[in-house]
Amino acid sequence: MSKLQKKSNNIKIDEIYKKFLNNPKDITPRERLSIPPQEMPEQSPDIRRHNFNEVALGYSEETVILEALRCLNCKHKPCVKGCPVGINIPEFIAKVTESDFLGAAEIIKKDNLLPSVCGRVCPQEMQCQAECVVGKSLSNVEKSVAIGRIERFVADYAMDYSKVPEVKPETGKKVAIVGSGPASLVVAADVRREGHSVTVFEALHKPGGVMIYGIPEFRLPKNIVQAEVELLERMGVNLVMNFFVGRTRKLMDLLDQDGYDAAFIGEGAGLPRFMNIPGENLVGVFSANEYLTRVNLMRAFEKKKADTPIFRNGKVAVIGGGNVAMDAARTALRMGADEVNIIYRRTEKEMPARREEVHHAKEEGVNFHFLQNITRCIGDDSERLISIECIKYELGEPDDSGRCRPIEIPGSEIIMDMDMVIIAIGNLSNPLLGKTTPGLKYSKKGTILVDENMKTSLDRIYAAGDIVSGAATVILAMGDGRKAAASINKLLAL
Ligand code: FAD
Ligand code: SF4
Ligand code: SF4
Repeated sequence: MSKLQKKSNNIKIDEIYKKFLNNPKDITPRERLSIPPQEMPEQSPDIRRHNFNEVALGYSEETVILEALRCLNCKHKPCVKGCPVGINIPEFIAKVTESDFLGAAEIIKKDNLLPSVCGRVCPQEMQCQAECVVGKSLSNVEKSVAIGRIERFVADYAMDYSKVPEVKPETGKKVAIVGSGPASLVVAADVRREGHSVTVFEALHKPGGVMIYGIPEFRLPKNIVQAEVELLERMGVNLVMNFFVGRTRKLMDLLDQDGYDAAFIGEGAGLPRFMNIPGENLVGVFSANEYLTRVNLMRAFEKKKADTPIFRNGKVAVIGGGNVAMDAARTALRMGADEVNIIYRRTEKEMPARREEVHHAKEEGVNFHFLQNITRCIGDDSERLISIECIKYELGEPDDSGRCRPIEIPGSEIIMDMDMVIIAIGNLSNPLLGKTTPGLKYSKKGTILVDENMKTSLDRIYAAGDIVSGAATVILAMGDGRKAAASINKLLAL
């Protein structure tokens, strides 16, 4: 019992736990509500800011059971409505209270192909946990049952026992998949299960999309994504790397000349947005995408071996207030920066980043400069960045997004010495595929237009993930990928 948290008022956790061990069904809702949320151990900030190992260390068997005991097993299951793929949450949590972790994993896997990933990176506080009755009754979403953490434990536990999903006899039909992010991986699995031949074409040299090149190792260990990809390969999915559909081969050629019966586009939104300010092309100015790709995919931290190393460190400014900005800032710290500064034009309240990520960044020593934005990058004679100019802001009336509009304060410019700037203000979709695929319709924002079955304007071509929704989340990409896979399977069954 040493690892159990027993912090709350007069809670008799030991007694509840003993009673649970003797007769689990006897635990009353009142007793369940009296169990405090179980904290997840983490590497301490002083240590973790110098390494790329995962920050959160996961529950133990005891703590996961205690956390699961907090669930009231609500009949109307509001949490399920908050999960974009509709996992039967109370059912899998009940299995956890019975120590049947493999049974719990089976329930999760029915709806979620990547639970170890989602348990780590889903914005649970805005999804399943936002609807949890426990959090609502305690008027604090942070006290909701920690569904994501329980899911993570179960999925990690079951990983060693993963079986290759059953594949129906070969149908002779072929499906081409563009990209290998979460949307594509889900489609590959669901279509392959029906016995169709599946080939995934990925532009980069490793599969996994943003889960591999964007989200850093300290939040999502890469071996987890690799294990899922290996499972797909064992199902017979073909993975072709370094293949840029639209350049290496046109999408329509795959269908019209190479014998593919249908195609899925899951190319994501990987084109970085820039500020369009003077000096943005100086040496030392990166997009967050490039910076994170250099570190995560190209292993820039191995300075002597890396093909795309990052030599400059010193003072770093990260522009933006989302999760990508937090990832870039925390990565820069681990790359040995002397000082990392987040520059954001609104206040902390309006920051779109997850609270947990902001909290972790602060703990690790990232400085936050609110109500401020960069106006130009200043270089020396050799075109290397040496400083930045920023202007201060104040907040005005709410804009279309509901957030207060930031307004520049004239004459408030300041110069800050800086060795590196990382721009993290969002991503757009790459226009290449559209330019080389006549008739494929896009919205004004550059996202692919689909109908309710995820079918594009072209016959036999489906799309989902960020290329349809705009930059979103792993679980939303997977949820829509599932719908696309169901449509493809229906088409091929005709
Ligand atoms: P992606 O994951 O973007 O994958 C698309 C793949 O397609 C890429 O590998 C790309 O190389 C490939 N590709 C593109 N064009 C072609 C082509 N023409 N031919 C062949 N291959 C091509 N979401 C969360 O839920 N939680 C988080 O914590 C989180 N953190 C994030 C952190 C960062 C730094 C970033 C950038 C995003 C984060 N997201 C997070 C968002 C999430 O990763 C995306 O919403 C999700 O990965 C989208 O999945 P996808 O399948 O649409 O595409
Ligand atoms: Fe919650 Fe995400 Fe798991 Fe769904 S997949 S239950 S939203 S953590
Ligand atoms: Fe359990 Fe919360 Fe879902 Fe109710 S809403 S079943 S307490 S996780």
